[in-house]
Amino acid sequence: MLTTQEQLKYSRQTMMKKIGAQGQLALRNAKVLIVGVGGLGNPVSLYLAAAGVGSLYLADGDIIELSNLPRQIQFSEADISQNKADTAADKLSEQFPDCNIEAIDEMLDEELCDYYLPQVDLVLDCSDNIKTRYLINQSCINHKTPLVIGAATGFDGQQLLVDPRNAQSACYHCLFPASEKAPENNCQTIGILGPVLAIIGGMQALQAIKLLTGNDSQINQLNLYDGISNQWQQFKMKKQESCYVCGKESK
Ligand SMILES: [Zn+2]
Repeated sequence: MLTTQEQLKYSRQTMMKKIGAQGQLALRNAKVLIVGVGGLGNPVSLYLAAAGVGSLYLADGDIIELSNLPRQIQFSEADISQNKADTAADKLSEQFPDCNIEAIDEMLDEELCDYYLPQVDLVLDCSDNIKTRYLINQSCINHKTPLVIGAATGFDGQQLLVDPRNAQSACYHCLFPASEKAPENNCQTIGILGPVLAIIGGMQALQAIKLLTGNDSQINQLNLYDGISNQWQQFKMKKQESCYVCGKESK
């Protein structure tokens, strides 16, 4: 049951039929891993802690740099050279004392994924590189853990939900079969604006809340945002039977 304090605090969420007290309890019981605590991980972790998610695991091996500050809104100049996961965990714990927060101050590898994924209900990919994206996708398929992927560069962003509990769900690898040679566009090479990350991070947090509260959340739908024309585009995807991560050939 929700406490009287929780009923009051989350009343604007629980008054919605699609959330209700049950949904709020589900959020309180949820354990969520956020991979990357930079431009996307900052707003995502803030929104999930604020919405009442009970346990957050924050993973990032990077340190805070001056050039991060225009978009990584939890950090200030006093935090420069500190680890991102540790710093965000400290700040969130102060702001949301009811949320259990664990910092993982290193880059996730296969071993860490195998350790943490069985402990969580959901993973949010807020990383900024393709290698981590493929690793998390593979690991979520292995452990049948749902995954909300977000990415943004320049004025553009994308969001995709992969839910391996559903046999029809396509994965990130279905969409982008891995190619070692593909040039990687990232914030270092083509820049990024903070509000684009807020939009994509906000959508990731919304998808996470819908999924955790048992609401319909859309698999096989790639959402692309163009911040210049202010337009969203949705593309239907299909699971690729030939995908060696989630398809028949993976067996
Ligand atoms: Zn796949």
